Amino acid sequence: MGSTILEIKLSPADLHNEEALRRAVLRQGSLAPADVGEIHVERRSVDARGRPVFRLRVSILPPGEERSPETPYSSLFKDVSDAPEVVIIGCGPAGMFAALELIELGLRPIIIERGKDVQARRRSLRAIQQFGEVDPNSNYCFGEGGAGTYSDGKLYTRSLKRGNYLKALHLLAEHGAQPDILIDAHPHIGSNKLPKVVANMRQSILDYGGDIRFGHRLIELERTKEDIQALIITNEAGEDYRLTASAYIFATGHSARDVYHLLHRHDIRMEAKPFALGVRIEHPQALIDKIQYRQEQREENLPASSYKLVTQVKDRGVFSFCMCPGGLVVPASTAPGEIVVNGMSLSRRDSPYANSGTVVAVELEDLKPFAKHGVFAGLEFQRSVEQTMFQASDGSQRAPAARLTDFANGRVSSSLPETSYIPGLISSPMHELLPSSIYSRLQQGVKDFSRKMKGYFTEEANVIGTESRTSSPIRIPRNRETFQHPDLNNLYPCGEGAGYAGGILSAAMDGQNVAQAVFKCVVR
Ligand code: FAD
Repeated sequence: MGSTILEIKLSPADLHNEEALRRAVLRQGSLAPADVGEIHVERRSVDARGRPVFRLRVSILPPGEERSPETPYSSLFKDVSDAPEVVIIGCGPAGMFAALELIELGLRPIIIERGKDVQARRRSLRAIQQFGEVDPNSNYCFGEGGAGTYSDGKLYTRSLKRGNYLKALHLLAEHGAQPDILIDAHPHIGSNKLPKVVANMRQSILDYGGDIRFGHRLIELERTKEDIQALIITNEAGEDYRLTASAYIFATGHSARDVYHLLHRHDIRMEAKPFALGVRIEHPQALIDKIQYRQEQREENLPASSYKLVTQVKDRGVFSFCMCPGGLVVPASTAPGEIVVNGMSLSRRDSPYANSGTVVAVELEDLKPFAKHGVFAGLEFQRSVEQTMFQASDGSQRAPAARLTDFANGRVSSSLPETSYIPGLISSPMHELLPSSIYSRLQQGVKDFSRKMKGYFTEEANVIGTESRTSSPIRIPRNRETFQHPDLNNLYPCGEGAGYAGGILSAAMDGQNVAQAVFKCVVR
C-alpha cells in the first residue's frame, strides 16, 4: 500500500507539536488511528486570509511502513582531478552550482573569484558598515558565494521551469541549509547560515578535485575570430598569468561593470535590457504584522509577515522587490563614490524592521538621455543615480532618506524614524535626488500601495536611496540550445550578470544548465 496525501490546516501554536499534527490528520482526513503510521510534511505555507493558519500537505504511510531514504545528489559527484578543465569566472550561486554540476558530469572546474572567502569577507563588510570604506573587490556583492552569501537568502523563484530547482534546494540542504527549505512554500536560509553553506559547497568542490582561487580577477582576454584563446588573471600580489581551458563560463554578476567593458573592448556582442530602479522602504515589522495578520502582536511560530505590492503608473510597473521581513537594510555599493542599498535578514527574521525594494521598471526608451553610452546606457543611468545619492551624503555610506509621508509630499523630513541601516541615514530631498521619471511614479505608487494595504502609508517608514541593482541592465547573448555566445564558441555567459537569472535560485539553476551545455560540447 502506498502513502496517502492530505491537505490539512494547523494552528500556529501547534506547528511543532507532533501529537497535534496527528490529531489534525485523523480529524481532517476522517482517518482511523489504526490506518495512520508515519506522517511526513511535504509542503508548508501560511494562510493569512482569515485568522492565520499553517496549511500543510502531508503524506501518510500505513502503520509499519517506512519511507526509503533519498539518494543525496552529492553522492553523484566524481573525482575530477585529471578531467578536462573548465574555467568559471565568479563564485556566486551561478558559478558554484555550475562547478558542482561539472563535477557530477566529470569535468574539472577552476573558479576564479575576485573577492575573498566568506570568513575574510566579513572584515570588508565591517569596513563598509562602520567606516564607509568600500573595497571594489570584496563587499556585499563580491566574494565567495557572490551576492547570495550575505543576502536575505530567500529561495523562491518565479522561473521554476528554467531548471531543476528541487536539485538546487537539495544541494543547499545537503551542504548545511535547514531542511525546512525543502518544504516551505517560501524557503529562506538567512545570512547567518549562508556563509557556512557556501563554505561547505567550496569544500565539496575542492574535495572532488576542483580548484577555487580567491583574490584572483579576470582582467583581459585573448580571442580569435571564433574562440577565446586564453584569459589573463591577476592575483592579489598583482601578478598576472594566462589561463586556458576547454570552455569559459562567465558568471560575474550584474555589478562587475569592468567585465562588461572588457567584453566591449573585444567587440563581444552585448545588448541593453530593461531593469528597475528605485528606493528601499523600511517599516516597523510590528506594523506590517498588524496589517497582514490583523493581530496586535504576532502569534508564536508565525513568521515575520511580508507583502508584495504592484501597481502601474504612467505605463510603467511600480513594485515591491526582494522584501525582507525582520531584516536589515545593508550598503551594497561595489565602488567608492556611490550609494546602493539592499536588504538581508538572519534565519530567524527577528529584527524589528521590515524592508523592501520599491522600484520602477526602466524600459530602453526611458534611457534616451544616456543614448550616447550605447549598450551602457542603463548602466550609466544606474551609476548616475548612485553617485548623486553619494554626493548628497557626507562622504560616508550614510544613505539619503525621507519619511514615507514626506517623500510622497515632496518634502525634506525634519527627523527620521529609527533604522536598521548601520551606516546611518541623512535626511535629504529624495524628490530632487531621484530622476523625475522615477520619483513621480514612486510618489503615485506608494499612494496606490496604501489603498491596497491600509496602514502602509505612514510617517514611521523610511524611504532610503538607492535600490539600483535589482537586475542587470545588460544582457550577454547566447544560443538558446548550446548556451554559447554567438561570437565565441567557448564562451558561456551565465547567471544574473549575463541577464539569465534574477536571484539565488534562478542563478543556481542557470549555472547547472550552462554546465550541462558545456559538458555536451566538451565531450562531443
Ligand atoms: P553574483 O552572485 O553577483 O556573483 C558574481 C561573482 O563574480 C561575485 O562573487 C564577483 O566577485 C565575481 N566576479 C565579478 N567580476 C569578476 C572578475 N573580473 N574576476 C573574478 N571574479 C569576478 N536573491 C534571492 O534570490 N533572494 C534573496 O533573498 C536575495 N537577497 C539579496 C540581498 C543582497 C544584500 C544582495 C546584494 C542580493 C540579494 N539577492 C537575493 C540577489 C542574489 O544574491 C543574486 O541574484 C545572485 O547572487 C546572482 O548570482 P550570480 O552567481 O549570477 O552572480
